[in-house]
Amino acid sequence: MAARELTVPDLGDFAEVEVIEVLVKAGDTVDVEDPLITLETEKASMDVPATEAGRIVSVAVSVGDRVSAGDVIATLEPAAGEQAAAAPEREAGADAEEAPAREQRPEAQAAPRESARPAADATHSADVVVIGAGPGGYTAAFRAADLGLKVILVERWPTLGGVCLNVGCIPSKALLHAAKVVDDAAAMAEHGIHFGKPRIDAAKLGAWKNGVVGKLTGGLVQLARQRKVTVLQATAKFESAHRLVLDNGETVHFEHCIIAAGSESARLPDTPDDPRIVDSTGALELDPLPKRLLVVGGGIIGLEMACVYNALGTKVSVVELTDSLMPGTDADLVRPFRKFIESRYEAIMLNTKVTAMRPTVPGIEVTFEGENAPEKEIYDRVLVAIGRRANGDRLDAEKAGVKVGRNGIIEVDKQQRTNVPHIFAIGDLAGGPMLAHKASHEGKIAAEVAAGKKSAFDARAIPSVAYTDPEIAWTGLTETRAKAEGIAYEKKQIPWSASGRALSLGRPEGFTKLLFDPETGRILGGGIVGPSAGDLISEVSLAVEMGADAADVALTIHPHPTLSETVMFAAEAYEGTLTDLYMPRKR
Ligand SMILES: Cc1cc2nc3c(=O)[nH]c(=O)nc-3n(C[C@H](O)[C@H](O)[C@H](O)COP(=O)(O)OP(=O)(O)OC[C@H]3O[C@@H](n4cnc5c(N)ncnc54)[C@H](O)[C@@H]3O)c2cc1C
Repeated sequence: MAARELTVPDLGDFAEVEVIEVLVKAGDTVDVEDPLITLETEKASMDVPATEAGRIVSVAVSVGDRVSAGDVIATLEPAAGEQAAAAPEREAGADAEEAPAREQRPEAQAAPRESARPAADATHSADVVVIGAGPGGYTAAFRAADLGLKVILVERWPTLGGVCLNVGCIPSKALLHAAKVVDDAAAMAEHGIHFGKPRIDAAKLGAWKNGVVGKLTGGLVQLARQRKVTVLQATAKFESAHRLVLDNGETVHFEHCIIAAGSESARLPDTPDDPRIVDSTGALELDPLPKRLLVVGGGIIGLEMACVYNALGTKVSVVELTDSLMPGTDADLVRPFRKFIESRYEAIMLNTKVTAMRPTVPGIEVTFEGENAPEKEIYDRVLVAIGRRANGDRLDAEKAGVKVGRNGIIEVDKQQRTNVPHIFAIGDLAGGPMLAHKASHEGKIAAEVAAGKKSAFDARAIPSVAYTDPEIAWTGLTETRAKAEGIAYEKKQIPWSASGRALSLGRPEGFTKLLFDPETGRILGGGIVGPSAGDLISEVSLAVEMGADAADVALTIHPHPTLSETVMFAAEAYEGTLTDLYMPRKR
């Protein structure tokens, strides 16, 4: 195969630049993006990467040389079968030994040729720039800094923490805690303790919630400072494969970029513009509390907010297009929750669609269509919670050569690389479940790969939790997926009516189930319904990750009386050693 010349790219404002380091020698094998030489101007240094993969035949420059655009750096014999513009096989080859094989790799391609103005003429330059300071972005930035990289974190909002800390996980959980206190206090009336009707000061409750958020977002500022991560408040877009342009006119030159721009609430078409129609962010503002609330969408986010409003005295109705609440979740896990809310909520309308919303003086007039569709109804507030949409298509990513799916999702490989190998995507916009803990896990991987480590996403289980009352949590294999994919499993389920702790909490309606590989007894997944299910599920996740089998969990001594015993009981049931319940052995 004919040798090719690797040349100095366009140097922007500089005619000649000094070579301060030569990083390759004849005989070396290089991949696309591997640095060949380092150039230095009076302002900054920059690596010149290989534009093709192959074996270096000869090197034409030495330290101290002054080079211009077009000068030959080295000649290279292209790798066999390698297209000039193909993506590096590096990860697929070298990493395969240590990192798990990729299931899918986005079709790689070289980034459009960089306008290659060096770092020197950009306002800022970094080894790693992260777009978005949500749980994915700040985790990636902090990990990259801990690994010794120069990091810039660009966030358009005035506070760090993204959706999760500002308008998602944290404020909703603060309100859910308040709701639980109200519900628990009311439930004690049955057992002889009467607190009376709570007096709700929605403004004060909101201020407390905001205080919790403020503590956490302020903490992130400290953590960024301690790590010397530069935080820029601006909206970033790509200008090229190595440069971002910010909405304040500044530019950032980067070696690696981690896209962590998250997602936003999906909108119902033709929704009128009225402050009484809100998304999840608007729903976190409680004051004034509505008398009647309609939640459009029976997913987790809508149902969590429904729990909050119900506990605070609002009459809540839920309308869901499909035939179940929390679509996609194992039906048995949702059933106790459904039963719990049935008598508490004004209406739960499944297989029903909202066809129109009309603002009127007394409230929002909503028209429905479907199986149990009521006549027109008027609500003081309507929460539209029909899912979230990824922000991948808001960044001019195509200018960097990054492929973005139609729904704003950016496809990545197991190392979180997009089709442009030095640009990564993580979190809500990288596909998969839109969860904070998945985003932060991916953030660490992207940062580590950017720092040259052979990390990869190989988690067996991503737990999901609905912090409703009762809580619902699941991890690893679900029965829904096992049935859809024909995966064999054996299930053991422990009703919480057999748990002394659940009875003493007055909450016997929950249960714990584990799914086992029928051949090996290995724990494949599990689900839990009941108070603290979200905390309890971690043991099942650990079991799945570690490849634990039933005996591992059954022989682990669990403290008594705790809800965690129910996980051990399910494993004992599989082993045939359970004594707290009578379950005749089948095997
Ligand atoms: C009400 C609610 C409750 C939730 N509860 C939970 C929960 O209990 N548990 C859970 O795991 N998940 C929960 N989630 C989901 C969770 O919030 C998200 O999965 C998580 O925040 C995703 O993190 P991320 O880093 O991908 O993006 P995000 O948190 O969305 O952060 C993205 C950041 O990027 C910034 N950004 C976007 N574009 C640009 C740009 N061009 N330039 C600069 N900055 C930009 C945004 O301003 C934002 O700060 C909840 C979500 C909501 C709405």
